[in-house]
Amino acid sequence: MFEYAPAPESRSVVDLKPSYGLFIDGAFVDPTDGDSFKSINPASEEVLAEIAEAGAPDVERAVRAARKAYDKVWGPMPGRDRAKYLYRIARLIQERSRELAVLESLDNGKPIKESRDVDLPLVAAHFFYYAGWADKLEHAGFGSNPRSIGVAAQVIPWNFPLLMLAWKIAPALAAGNTVVLKPAETTSLTALLFAEICQQADLPPGVVNIVTGAGDTGRALVEHPGVDKVAFTGSTDVGRAIARSVAGTRKKLTLELGGKAANIVFDDAPIDQAVEGIVNGIFFNQGHVCCAGSRLLVQENVADRVLESLKRRMAQLRVGDPLDKNTDVGAINSAAQLERIRELSDAGTAEGAERWSPPCELPERGFWFAPTIFTGVTQAHRIAREEIFGPVLSVLTFRTPAEAVEKANNTPYGLSAGIWTDKGSRILWMADRLRAGVVWANTFNKFDPTSPFGGYKESGYGREGGRHGLEAYLNV
Ligand code: NAD
Repeated sequence: MFEYAPAPESRSVVDLKPSYGLFIDGAFVDPTDGDSFKSINPASEEVLAEIAEAGAPDVERAVRAARKAYDKVWGPMPGRDRAKYLYRIARLIQERSRELAVLESLDNGKPIKESRDVDLPLVAAHFFYYAGWADKLEHAGFGSNPRSIGVAAQVIPWNFPLLMLAWKIAPALAAGNTVVLKPAETTSLTALLFAEICQQADLPPGVVNIVTGAGDTGRALVEHPGVDKVAFTGSTDVGRAIARSVAGTRKKLTLELGGKAANIVFDDAPIDQAVEGIVNGIFFNQGHVCCAGSRLLVQENVADRVLESLKRRMAQLRVGDPLDKNTDVGAINSAAQLERIRELSDAGTAEGAERWSPPCELPERGFWFAPTIFTGVTQAHRIAREEIFGPVLSVLTFRTPAEAVEKANNTPYGLSAGIWTDKGSRILWMADRLRAGVVWANTFNKFDPTSPFGGYKESGYGREGGRHGLEAYLNV
Protein backbone atom coordinates (compact mmCIF):
# COMPACT_ATOMS: atom_id res chain seq x y z
CA MET A 1 0.00 0.00 0.00
CA PHE A 2 1.24 3.49 -0.83
CA GLU A 3 2.07 5.78 2.06
CA TYR A 4 0.58 9.20 1.54
CA ALA A 5 1.69 12.35 3.33
CA PRO A 6 -1.19 14.11 5.10
CA ALA A 7 -3.14 16.38 2.72
CA PRO A 8 -5.66 18.18 4.91
CA GLU A 9 -8.09 20.63 3.37
CA SER A 10 -7.84 24.01 5.11
CA ARG A 11 -10.75 24.87 7.34
CA SER A 12 -9.95 28.58 7.17
CA VAL A 13 -12.48 28.87 4.33
CA VAL A 14 -15.26 28.31 6.89
CA ASP A 15 -16.35 31.18 9.08
CA LEU A 16 -17.85 29.39 12.09
CA LYS A 17 -19.83 31.52 14.50
CA PRO A 18 -19.90 30.61 18.19
CA SER A 19 -23.69 30.38 18.12
CA TYR A 20 -26.54 30.22 15.61
CA GLY A 21 -30.17 31.34 15.86
CA LEU A 22 -33.23 30.09 14.00
CA PHE A 23 -33.86 31.27 10.44
CA ILE A 24 -37.41 32.60 10.38
CA ASP A 25 -38.97 35.11 8.00
CA GLY A 26 -35.66 35.90 6.33
CA ALA A 27 -33.70 36.66 9.52
CA PHE A 28 -31.74 34.83 12.21
CA VAL A 29 -33.67 35.08 15.47
CA ASP A 30 -33.24 33.83 19.03
CA PRO A 31 -35.49 31.00 20.19
CA THR A 32 -38.34 32.13 22.46
CA ASP A 33 -37.19 30.28 25.55
CA GLY A 34 -33.46 30.58 24.81
CA ASP A 35 -32.67 26.85 24.72
CA SER A 36 -29.69 25.58 22.77
CA PHE A 37 -27.54 22.51 22.15
CA LYS A 38 -24.03 21.87 20.85
CA SER A 39 -22.96 20.61 17.45
CA ILE A 40 -19.72 18.69 17.64
CA ASN A 41 -17.13 17.47 15.18
CA PRO A 42 -17.50 13.68 15.30
CA ALA A 43 -13.87 13.20 14.22
CA SER A 44 -12.48 15.06 17.25
CA GLU A 45 -15.41 15.65 19.65
CA GLU A 46 -14.57 19.38 19.47
CA VAL A 47 -17.58 21.66 19.97
CA LEU A 48 -18.18 23.51 16.72
CA ALA A 49 -21.04 25.81 17.70
CA GLU A 50 -24.04 26.36 19.93
CA ILE A 51 -27.31 25.82 18.03
CA ALA A 52 -30.70 27.27 18.98
CA GLU A 53 -33.37 24.73 19.93
CA ALA A 54 -36.77 25.64 18.54
CA GLY A 55 -39.78 25.10 20.78
CA ALA A 56 -43.45 25.07 19.84
CA PRO A 57 -43.75 28.91 19.80
CA ASP A 58 -40.79 29.11 17.39
CA VAL A 59 -42.31 26.47 15.11
CA GLU A 60 -45.51 28.53 15.23
CA ARG A 61 -43.60 31.66 14.15
CA ALA A 62 -41.89 29.79 11.33
CA VAL A 63 -45.12 28.25 10.01
CA ARG A 64 -46.84 31.63 10.15
CA ALA A 65 -43.96 33.25 8.22
CA ALA A 66 -44.13 30.49 5.61
CA ARG A 67 -47.91 30.94 5.28
CA LYS A 68 -47.63 34.68 4.80
CA ALA A 69 -44.89 34.26 2.19
CA TYR A 70 -46.99 31.63 0.41
CA ASP A 71 -50.15 33.74 0.32
CA LYS A 72 -48.56 37.08 -0.50
CA VAL A 73 -45.38 36.45 -2.48
CA TRP A 74 -44.28 32.98 -3.51
CA GLY A 75 -47.63 31.39 -4.34
CA PRO A 76 -48.76 34.17 -6.70
CA MET A 77 -45.28 34.62 -8.24
CA PRO A 78 -44.99 33.43 -11.89
CA GLY A 79 -42.91 30.27 -12.28
CA ARG A 80 -40.33 32.04 -14.44
CA ASP A 81 -39.56 34.38 -11.53
CA ARG A 82 -39.37 31.58 -9.00
CA ALA A 83 -36.92 29.91 -11.39
CA LYS A 84 -34.62 32.93 -11.26
CA TYR A 85 -34.29 32.62 -7.49
CA LEU A 86 -33.61 28.89 -7.74
CA TYR A 87 -30.93 29.44 -10.40
CA ARG A 88 -29.39 32.12 -8.22
CA ILE A 89 -29.30 29.77 -5.25
CA ALA A 90 -27.77 27.02 -7.42
CA ARG A 91 -25.02 29.35 -8.62
CA LEU A 92 -24.28 30.59 -5.10
CA ILE A 93 -23.98 26.98 -3.94
CA GLN A 94 -21.42 26.38 -6.69
CA GLU A 95 -19.53 29.54 -5.82
CA ARG A 96 -19.43 28.66 -2.14
CA SER A 97 -19.09 24.91 -2.62
CA ARG A 98 -15.65 24.63 -1.01
CA GLU A 99 -16.89 26.38 2.11
CA LEU A 100 -20.02 24.19 2.20
CA ALA A 101 -18.03 20.99 1.63
CA VAL A 102 -15.54 21.73 4.41
CA LEU A 103 -18.35 22.61 6.82
CA GLU A 104 -20.25 19.45 5.88
CA SER A 105 -17.20 17.27 6.57
CA LEU A 106 -16.50 19.06 9.86
CA ASP A 107 -20.03 18.67 11.17
CA ASN A 108 -20.90 15.25 9.71
CA GLY A 109 -17.55 13.40 9.64
CA LYS A 110 -17.76 12.39 5.97
CA PRO A 111 -14.55 12.48 3.88
CA ILE A 112 -13.93 15.78 2.12
CA LYS A 113 -13.45 13.78 -1.10
CA GLU A 114 -17.15 12.83 -0.89
CA SER A 115 -18.62 16.13 0.31
CA ARG A 116 -16.58 17.98 -2.34
CA ASP A 117 -17.03 15.58 -5.28
CA VAL A 118 -20.42 13.97 -4.62
CA ASP A 119 -22.64 15.89 -2.18
CA LEU A 120 -21.99 19.45 -3.31
CA PRO A 121 -22.18 18.89 -7.08
CA LEU A 122 -25.45 16.99 -6.55
CA VAL A 123 -26.85 19.72 -4.30
CA ALA A 124 -26.21 22.38 -6.95
CA ALA A 125 -27.53 20.06 -9.67
CA HIS A 126 -30.82 19.61 -7.79
CA PHE A 127 -31.39 23.35 -7.61
CA PHE A 128 -30.48 23.79 -11.29
CA TYR A 129 -32.72 20.90 -12.29
CA TYR A 130 -35.81 22.07 -10.40
CA ALA A 131 -35.20 25.68 -11.43
CA GLY A 132 -35.79 24.39 -14.94
CA TRP A 133 -39.18 22.96 -13.97
CA ALA A 134 -40.52 26.05 -12.17
CA ASP A 135 -42.02 27.61 -15.31
CA LYS A 136 -42.94 24.31 -17.02
CA LEU A 137 -45.17 22.66 -14.43
CA GLU A 138 -48.06 22.39 -16.85
CA HIS A 139 -45.82 20.17 -19.03
CA ALA A 140 -44.82 17.84 -16.20
CA GLY A 141 -47.62 15.38 -16.93
CA PHE A 142 -49.82 16.35 -13.98
CA GLY A 143 -52.60 18.10 -15.89
CA SER A 144 -52.73 21.52 -17.52
CA ASN A 145 -52.87 23.54 -14.33
CA PRO A 146 -51.10 21.82 -11.43
CA ARG A 147 -51.29 23.89 -8.24
CA SER A 148 -48.87 24.22 -5.36
CA ILE A 149 -49.95 22.79 -2.01
CA GLY A 150 -48.99 25.52 0.48
CA VAL A 151 -46.64 25.24 3.44
CA ALA A 152 -44.38 22.18 3.53
CA ALA A 153 -42.91 20.82 6.78
CA GLN A 154 -39.69 18.99 6.00
CA VAL A 155 -37.63 16.89 8.41
CA ILE A 156 -34.29 15.43 7.33
CA PRO A 157 -31.58 13.09 8.71
CA TRP A 158 -27.87 13.61 9.32
CA ASN A 159 -26.26 11.34 6.73
CA PHE A 160 -26.43 13.76 3.76
CA PRO A 161 -27.41 17.00 5.50
CA LEU A 162 -27.16 19.38 2.57
CA LEU A 163 -28.17 16.90 -0.11
CA MET A 164 -31.35 15.91 1.77
CA LEU A 165 -32.08 19.63 2.19
CA ALA A 166 -31.75 20.08 -1.58
CA TRP A 167 -33.98 17.06 -2.30
CA LYS A 168 -36.63 18.65 -0.10
CA ILE A 169 -36.36 22.38 -0.74
CA ALA A 170 -35.65 22.54 -4.50
CA PRO A 171 -38.81 20.74 -5.75
CA ALA A 172 -41.01 22.37 -3.07
CA LEU A 173 -39.96 25.87 -4.11
CA ALA A 174 -40.08 25.12 -7.82
CA ALA A 175 -43.69 23.97 -7.44
CA GLY A 176 -44.60 27.19 -5.63
CA ASN A 177 -44.67 26.06 -1.99
CA THR A 178 -42.93 27.63 0.97
CA VAL A 179 -41.07 25.53 3.52
CA VAL A 180 -40.12 25.07 7.15
CA LEU A 181 -37.22 22.64 7.32
CA LYS A 182 -35.77 20.93 10.37
CA PRO A 183 -32.25 19.54 9.94
CA ALA A 184 -31.03 16.66 12.13
CA GLU A 185 -29.71 17.73 15.52
CA THR A 186 -26.15 16.51 14.89
CA THR A 187 -25.80 18.27 11.53
CA SER A 188 -27.47 21.69 11.49
CA LEU A 189 -24.56 23.81 10.34
CA THR A 190 -24.75 23.53 6.56
CA ALA A 191 -28.51 24.15 6.66
CA LEU A 192 -27.77 27.39 8.51
CA LEU A 193 -25.14 28.33 5.94
CA PHE A 194 -27.75 27.59 3.29
CA ALA A 195 -30.02 30.07 5.10
CA GLU A 196 -27.30 32.70 4.61
CA ILE A 197 -27.27 31.79 0.92
CA CYS A 198 -31.04 32.40 0.78
CA GLN A 199 -30.38 35.88 2.20
CA GLN A 200 -27.58 36.44 -0.30
CA ALA A 201 -29.94 35.40 -3.12
CA ASP A 202 -32.53 37.93 -1.87
CA LEU A 203 -35.07 35.14 -1.55
CA PRO A 204 -38.24 36.78 -0.20
CA PRO A 205 -38.50 36.40 3.61
CA GLY A 206 -40.52 33.41 4.82
CA VAL A 207 -40.11 31.29 1.66
CA VAL A 208 -37.47 29.16 3.41
CA ASN A 209 -37.45 28.86 7.21
CA ILE A 210 -35.02 26.66 9.14
CA VAL A 211 -35.82 25.53 12.65
CA THR A 212 -33.10 23.60 14.48
CA GLY A 213 -33.68 21.12 17.28
CA ALA A 214 -34.19 17.42 17.94
CA GLY A 215 -37.18 15.05 17.81
CA ASP A 216 -39.50 17.33 19.82
CA THR A 217 -38.97 20.18 17.38
CA GLY A 218 -39.62 17.80 14.50
CA ARG A 219 -42.81 16.53 16.11
CA ALA A 220 -44.07 20.08 16.79
CA LEU A 221 -43.44 20.89 13.14
CA VAL A 222 -45.11 17.89 11.51
CA GLU A 223 -48.08 18.06 13.90
CA HIS A 224 -48.63 21.79 13.38
CA PRO A 225 -52.14 22.29 11.95
CA GLY A 226 -50.87 25.09 9.69
CA VAL A 227 -48.79 22.83 7.44
CA ASP A 228 -50.27 21.34 4.28
CA LYS A 229 -47.59 18.83 3.40
CA VAL A 230 -45.13 16.75 5.41
CA ALA A 231 -41.96 15.34 3.86
CA PHE A 232 -39.81 13.15 6.08
CA THR A 233 -36.55 11.30 5.57
CA GLY A 234 -35.29 9.25 8.47
CA SER A 235 -35.82 6.05 10.35
CA THR A 236 -38.78 3.74 9.83
CA ASP A 237 -39.85 4.04 13.49
CA VAL A 238 -40.14 7.81 13.37
CA GLY A 239 -41.74 7.57 9.91
CA ARG A 240 -44.42 5.30 11.36
CA ALA A 241 -45.10 7.75 14.21
CA ILE A 242 -45.43 10.59 11.73
CA ALA A 243 -47.78 8.58 9.50
CA ARG A 244 -49.98 7.98 12.55
CA SER A 245 -50.03 11.65 13.53
CA VAL A 246 -50.81 12.79 9.98
CA ALA A 247 -53.53 10.18 9.40
CA GLY A 248 -56.97 11.74 9.35
CA THR A 249 -55.67 15.24 8.60
CA ARG A 250 -55.71 16.83 5.14
CA LYS A 251 -51.88 16.89 5.09
CA LYS A 252 -50.10 15.17 2.22
CA LEU A 253 -47.26 12.91 3.27
CA THR A 254 -44.13 11.42 1.73
CA LEU A 255 -41.77 9.15 3.66
CA GLU A 256 -38.22 8.15 2.73
CA LEU A 257 -37.15 5.60 5.32
CA GLY A 258 -34.56 2.91 5.90
CA GLY A 259 -33.23 0.07 3.77
CA LYS A 260 -31.35 -3.21 3.76
CA ALA A 261 -30.33 -3.49 0.13
CA ALA A 262 -29.04 -6.62 -1.54
CA ASN A 263 -26.01 -6.20 -3.78
CA ILE A 264 -26.09 -9.36 -5.92
CA VAL A 265 -22.97 -10.67 -7.64
CA PHE A 266 -23.30 -13.45 -10.26
CA ASP A 267 -20.46 -15.71 -11.33
CA ASP A 268 -20.23 -14.06 -14.76
CA ALA A 269 -19.77 -10.56 -13.30
CA PRO A 270 -16.55 -8.65 -13.90
CA ILE A 271 -15.19 -9.40 -10.44
CA ASP A 272 -12.82 -6.44 -10.08
CA GLN A 273 -15.56 -3.97 -10.99
CA ALA A 274 -18.02 -5.75 -8.73
CA VAL A 275 -15.59 -5.48 -5.82
CA GLU A 276 -15.34 -1.72 -6.42
CA GLY A 277 -19.13 -1.62 -6.43
CA ILE A 278 -19.36 -3.61 -3.21
CA VAL A 279 -16.88 -1.25 -1.51
CA ASN A 280 -18.71 1.81 -2.81
CA GLY A 281 -22.04 0.25 -1.87
CA ILE A 282 -21.25 -0.22 1.82
CA PHE A 283 -18.25 1.96 2.74
CA PHE A 284 -19.29 5.16 0.94
CA ASN A 285 -20.24 7.73 3.61
CA GLN A 286 -19.27 5.20 6.36
CA GLY A 287 -22.29 3.14 5.32
CA HIS A 288 -24.59 5.90 6.61
CA VAL A 289 -26.63 5.50 3.45
CA CYS A 290 -30.28 4.45 3.40
CA CYS A 291 -29.75 2.64 0.09
CA ALA A 292 -26.37 1.12 1.09
CA GLY A 293 -25.63 -2.32 -0.33
CA SER A 294 -25.48 -3.75 3.18
CA ARG A 295 -26.23 -7.37 2.21
CA LEU A 296 -23.84 -8.89 -0.29
CA LEU A 297 -25.40 -11.86 -2.08
CA VAL A 298 -22.65 -13.64 -3.97
CA GLN A 299 -23.03 -16.71 -6.15
CA GLU A 300 -21.54 -19.64 -4.29
CA ASN A 301 -19.07 -20.77 -6.96
CA VAL A 302 -17.29 -17.39 -6.98
CA ALA A 303 -17.73 -16.51 -3.30
CA ASP A 304 -14.14 -17.33 -2.31
CA ARG A 305 -12.70 -15.34 -5.20
CA VAL A 306 -14.91 -12.33 -4.53
CA LEU A 307 -14.17 -12.35 -0.80
CA GLU A 308 -10.45 -12.62 -1.34
CA SER A 309 -10.47 -9.59 -3.68
CA LEU A 310 -12.79 -7.72 -1.38
CA LYS A 311 -10.52 -8.21 1.61
CA ARG A 312 -7.49 -7.15 -0.39
CA ARG A 313 -9.35 -4.01 -1.49
CA MET A 314 -10.61 -3.25 2.03
CA ALA A 315 -7.05 -3.34 3.33
CA GLN A 316 -6.36 -0.29 1.14
CA LEU A 317 -9.14 1.89 2.54
CA ARG A 318 -7.81 4.88 4.44
CA VAL A 319 -9.79 5.53 7.58
CA GLY A 320 -9.22 8.82 9.38
CA ASP A 321 -9.33 12.61 9.26
CA PRO A 322 -12.39 13.56 7.18
CA LEU A 323 -10.67 16.73 6.01
CA ASP A 324 -7.72 14.81 4.55
CA LYS A 325 -8.12 14.59 0.78
CA ASN A 326 -6.86 10.98 0.78
CA THR A 327 -9.36 9.71 3.32
CA ASP A 328 -11.82 7.07 2.10
CA VAL A 329 -13.75 6.38 5.31
CA GLY A 330 -14.39 9.15 7.81
CA ALA A 331 -15.92 9.34 11.29
CA ILE A 332 -19.18 7.82 12.49
CA ASN A 333 -21.63 10.70 12.87
CA SER A 334 -22.38 10.41 16.58
CA ALA A 335 -21.68 8.46 19.75
CA ALA A 336 -25.25 7.14 19.61
CA GLN A 337 -24.81 5.82 16.06
CA LEU A 338 -21.46 4.25 16.97
CA GLU A 339 -23.18 2.50 19.87
CA ARG A 340 -25.84 1.10 17.55
CA ILE A 341 -23.24 -0.18 15.05
CA ARG A 342 -21.29 -1.83 17.88
CA GLU A 343 -24.40 -3.44 19.32
CA LEU A 344 -25.49 -4.95 16.01
CA SER A 345 -21.97 -6.09 15.15
CA ASP A 346 -21.66 -7.80 18.54
CA ALA A 347 -24.99 -9.49 17.83
CA GLY A 348 -23.50 -10.73 14.54
CA THR A 349 -20.65 -12.42 16.37
CA ALA A 350 -22.93 -13.75 19.12
CA GLU A 351 -25.27 -15.27 16.55
CA GLY A 352 -22.41 -17.12 14.92
CA ALA A 353 -21.29 -15.08 11.90
CA GLU A 354 -17.58 -14.61 11.29
CA ARG A 355 -16.25 -11.07 11.60
CA TRP A 356 -13.32 -9.61 9.68
CA SER A 357 -11.74 -6.16 9.43
CA PRO A 358 -8.47 -5.15 7.80
CA PRO A 359 -5.70 -4.04 10.13
CA CYS A 360 -6.40 -0.36 10.61
CA GLU A 361 -5.41 2.22 13.18
CA LEU A 362 -8.29 4.31 14.41
CA PRO A 363 -7.78 7.81 15.84
CA GLU A 364 -8.07 8.04 19.62
CA ARG A 365 -10.60 10.83 19.89
CA GLY A 366 -13.86 10.92 17.98
CA PHE A 367 -16.21 8.17 16.82
CA TRP A 368 -14.70 5.49 14.60
CA PHE A 369 -15.51 2.04 13.32
CA ALA A 370 -13.24 -0.04 11.10
CA PRO A 371 -14.68 -1.31 7.79
CA THR A 372 -16.07 -4.72 8.65
CA ILE A 373 -17.50 -7.76 6.89
CA PHE A 374 -19.38 -10.70 8.29
CA THR A 375 -19.33 -14.05 6.47
CA GLY A 376 -21.38 -17.12 7.26
CA VAL A 377 -24.43 -14.92 7.72
CA THR A 378 -27.84 -16.56 7.59
CA GLN A 379 -31.12 -14.84 6.83
CA ALA A 380 -32.22 -15.21 10.44
CA HIS A 381 -29.30 -13.18 11.82
CA ARG A 382 -30.09 -9.66 13.04
CA ILE A 383 -27.23 -8.33 10.87
CA ALA A 384 -29.05 -9.70 7.81
CA ARG A 385 -32.39 -8.16 8.75
CA GLU A 386 -31.81 -4.89 10.61
CA GLU A 387 -30.37 -1.72 9.19
CA ILE A 388 -26.92 -1.17 10.72
CA PHE A 389 -26.31 2.21 9.03
CA GLY A 390 -22.56 1.83 9.36
CA PRO A 391 -19.52 0.36 7.53
CA VAL A 392 -20.59 -3.24 8.11
CA LEU A 393 -21.34 -5.72 5.33
CA SER A 394 -23.23 -8.99 5.77
CA VAL A 395 -22.26 -11.64 3.21
CA LEU A 396 -24.66 -14.38 2.12
CA THR A 397 -24.42 -16.80 -0.80
CA PHE A 398 -26.88 -18.17 -3.36
CA ARG A 399 -26.84 -20.74 -6.15
CA THR A 400 -29.56 -19.78 -8.65
CA PRO A 401 -31.09 -16.50 -9.83
CA ALA A 402 -34.41 -17.51 -8.26
CA GLU A 403 -32.72 -18.02 -4.91
CA ALA A 404 -31.02 -14.64 -5.23
CA VAL A 405 -34.39 -12.96 -5.82
CA GLU A 406 -35.97 -14.72 -2.88
CA LYS A 407 -33.17 -13.78 -0.51
CA ALA A 408 -32.97 -10.21 -1.80
CA ASN A 409 -36.69 -9.70 -1.26
CA ASN A 410 -36.66 -11.34 2.15
CA THR A 411 -36.61 -8.03 4.04
CA PRO A 412 -39.23 -5.64 5.38
CA TYR A 413 -37.50 -2.90 3.38
CA GLY A 414 -37.49 -2.20 -0.35
CA LEU A 415 -35.38 0.81 -1.20
CA SER A 416 -32.61 -0.33 -3.53
CA ALA A 417 -30.70 -3.29 -4.97
CA GLY A 418 -27.67 -3.96 -7.14
CA ILE A 419 -27.06 -6.62 -9.81
CA TRP A 420 -23.64 -7.57 -11.17
CA THR A 421 -23.69 -9.79 -14.24
CA ASP A 422 -22.51 -9.87 -17.83
CA LYS A 423 -25.97 -10.79 -19.15
CA GLY A 424 -28.38 -8.00 -20.07
CA SER A 425 -31.32 -10.42 -20.11
CA ARG A 426 -30.56 -11.48 -16.55
CA ILE A 427 -30.43 -7.85 -15.41
CA LEU A 428 -33.95 -7.29 -16.79
CA TRP A 429 -35.25 -10.58 -15.38
CA MET A 430 -33.91 -9.72 -11.93
CA ALA A 431 -34.99 -6.07 -11.98
CA ASP A 432 -38.55 -7.18 -12.76
CA ARG A 433 -38.61 -9.35 -9.66
CA LEU A 434 -36.74 -7.27 -7.09
CA ARG A 435 -39.06 -5.32 -4.79
CA ALA A 436 -36.89 -2.23 -4.61
CA GLY A 437 -37.48 1.36 -5.68
CA VAL A 438 -34.06 1.65 -7.33
CA VAL A 439 -32.16 -1.18 -9.01
CA TRP A 440 -28.61 -0.50 -10.14
CA ALA A 441 -26.99 -2.77 -12.71
CA ASN A 442 -23.20 -3.13 -12.73
CA THR A 443 -22.91 -0.01 -10.61
CA PHE A 444 -24.12 1.16 -7.22
CA ASN A 445 -25.00 4.37 -5.34
CA LYS A 446 -25.40 6.48 -8.46
CA PHE A 447 -27.65 9.52 -8.13
CA ASP A 448 -28.94 12.11 -10.51
CA PRO A 449 -31.51 14.87 -9.99
CA THR A 450 -33.48 13.68 -13.01
CA SER A 451 -33.95 10.20 -11.58
CA PRO A 452 -36.70 9.42 -9.07
CA PHE A 453 -35.76 7.78 -5.78
CA GLY A 454 -37.95 6.12 -3.15
CA GLY A 455 -39.04 2.87 -1.60
CA TYR A 456 -41.50 0.03 -1.23
CA LYS A 457 -42.82 -1.53 1.97
CA GLU A 458 -41.13 -0.21 5.14
CA SER A 459 -38.78 1.96 3.10
CA GLY A 460 -41.60 4.47 2.71
CA TYR A 461 -43.73 5.94 -0.04
CA GLY A 462 -43.58 8.77 -2.53
CA ARG A 463 -40.70 9.61 -4.83
CA GLU A 464 -38.08 12.34 -4.66
CA GLY A 465 -36.10 13.54 -7.66
CA GLY A 466 -36.99 13.84 -11.29
CA ARG A 467 -40.38 14.74 -12.67
CA HIS A 468 -41.91 12.31 -10.15
CA GLY A 469 -40.47 14.40 -7.32
CA LEU A 470 -42.67 17.33 -8.33
CA GLU A 471 -45.84 15.35 -7.76
CA ALA A 472 -45.29 15.35 -3.99
CA TYR A 473 -45.45 19.15 -4.01
CA LEU A 474 -48.41 19.66 -6.32
CA ASN A 475 -52.14 19.24 -6.03
CA VAL A 476 -52.65 16.98 -9.02
P1 NAD B 1 -34.37 9.61 12.79
O1 NAD B 1 -35.65 9.12 12.28
O2 NAD B 1 -34.02 9.37 14.20
O3 NAD B 1 -34.25 11.17 12.57
C1 NAD B 1 -34.54 11.79 11.34
C2 NAD B 1 -35.04 13.19 11.62
O4 NAD B 1 -36.30 13.12 12.29
C3 NAD B 1 -34.14 14.03 12.51
O5 NAD B 1 -34.16 15.35 12.03
C4 NAD B 1 -34.83 13.94 13.86
O6 NAD B 1 -34.56 15.03 14.70
C5 NAD B 1 -36.29 13.92 13.46
N1 NAD B 1 -37.21 13.31 14.41
C6 NAD B 1 -36.95 12.41 15.39
N2 NAD B 1 -38.09 12.08 16.04
C7 NAD B 1 -39.10 12.77 15.43
C8 NAD B 1 -40.51 12.83 15.63
N3 NAD B 1 -41.12 12.09 16.56
N4 NAD B 1 -41.23 13.63 14.82
C9 NAD B 1 -40.64 14.35 13.86
N5 NAD B 1 -39.31 14.34 13.63
C10 NAD B 1 -38.54 13.55 14.41
O7 NAD B 1 -33.30 8.98 11.83
P2 NAD B 1 -31.74 9.27 11.79
O8 NAD B 1 -31.08 8.38 12.77
O9 NAD B 1 -31.46 10.70 11.87
O10 NAD B 1 -31.42 8.82 10.28
C11 NAD B 1 -31.13 7.53 9.95
C12 NAD B 1 -32.30 6.89 9.24
O11 NAD B 1 -32.74 7.64 8.13
C13 NAD B 1 -31.93 5.54 8.69
O12 NAD B 1 -32.92 4.60 9.02
C14 NAD B 1 -31.90 5.76 7.19
O13 NAD B 1 -32.13 4.63 6.42
C15 NAD B 1 -32.90 6.81 6.99
N6 NAD B 1 -32.64 7.55 5.76
C16 NAD B 1 -33.47 7.33 4.69
C17 NAD B 1 -33.25 8.00 3.48
C18 NAD B 1 -34.16 7.77 2.30
O14 NAD B 1 -34.14 8.56 1.38
N7 NAD B 1 -34.96 6.74 2.29
C19 NAD B 1 -32.20 8.90 3.37
C20 NAD B 1 -31.37 9.09 4.47
C21 NAD B 1 -31.63 8.42 5.66
